Amino acid sequence: MRIVVLTGGIGGARFLVGVRAHARAIGADVTAVVNVGDDVRMHGLQICPDLDSVMYTLGGAADPERGWGRVGESWVVKEELARYGVEPSWFGLGDKDTATHLVRTTMLQAGFPLSQVTAALCERWQPGITLLPATDDRLETHVVVDVEGERKAIHFQEWWVRYRGEVPTHRFVFRGAESAKPATGVLDAIGQADVVLIAPSNPVVSIAPILAVPEIRDAVANGPAPVVGVSPIIGGSPVRGMADKCLATLEVEVSAGAVGRMYGPRAEGGLLDGWLVDTSDAGVEVPGVRTRAVPLWMRDETLTTRMVADALELAR
Ligand code: GDP
Ligand code: CA
Repeated sequence: MRIVVLTGGIGGARFLVGVRAHARAIGADVTAVVNVGDDVRMHGLQICPDLDSVMYTLGGAADPERGWGRVGESWVVKEELARYGVEPSWFGLGDKDTATHLVRTTMLQAGFPLSQVTAALCERWQPGITLLPATDDRLETHVVVDVEGERKAIHFQEWWVRYRGEVPTHRFVFRGAESAKPATGVLDAIGQADVVLIAPSNPVVSIAPILAVPEIRDAVANGPAPVVGVSPIIGGSPVRGMADKCLATLEVEVSAGAVGRMYGPRAEGGLLDGWLVDTSDAGVEVPGVRTRAVPLWMRDETLTTRMVADALELAR
């Protein structure tokens, strides 16, 4: 069996731990197609937050407290940069993490596409699944905001890390998406999949940028594999993270039903055949989509693995 997962960073990475465990139990093969909209160049380094969250989490090296970056991290480089007074000073750049960015940037500058760079980094981390960036092309999520009386588009990282999403926000723009091509391997993986899962990731800034690549959206929406989404919203709350702020910008209600309707049924040009919601959202209906309520709190690997089994069950 072949499973493809569309995923963002932290929420998606936790979900993938369960996907990997279930896949091992049933002998399935897993490919994660990871959001690159958060990617950013800082201090000359190419940083891929979602790819790194997934890679470190599956590699057993993520910091469980902070939620991002490496466990046992130190911050000498960041402190030294601050002493030079160079911006951006609001971005967390750990020493161990910096080594990853150095390897990545060097390989990119030598001409390797991001998909190959990711595979090379994964030789160390052995995530146990195939990690693919959605695209090897440049695709960045920008946010149209009002700051200091001026309307402008800032990078998603600046919106979230610097401003905590607490500035008047008008819309999200996936720069480069229209002309971006799926990374090598993405269309093959989707085309050969027995099921496509949409992780309980942020629908607005993790899943939407992946699907903003026209050929990826087409392959998922019109491909042979059933598509099952897992709600990132439980009882009207995003559990952790910022999905509530992002949905508010789109004027979409923060609820499992509203996110399911936003993805929409495949039969009507949407994405979903099935939509898994939490037991506290039992009764939620998405017209044209099979809905089922099961526990969706990813408290540990066992619970998450159970969730994945339920998602696959719904796909049948
Ligand atoms: P990011 O790229 O690091 O922001 O991570 P993702 O986009 O992959 O995931 C973030 C989203 O995961 C959050 O906005 C939450 O809505 C969702 N999430 C976090 N923890 C849980 C959980 O335990 N269960 C479910 N169903 N969703 C969760
Ligand atoms: Ca992210």
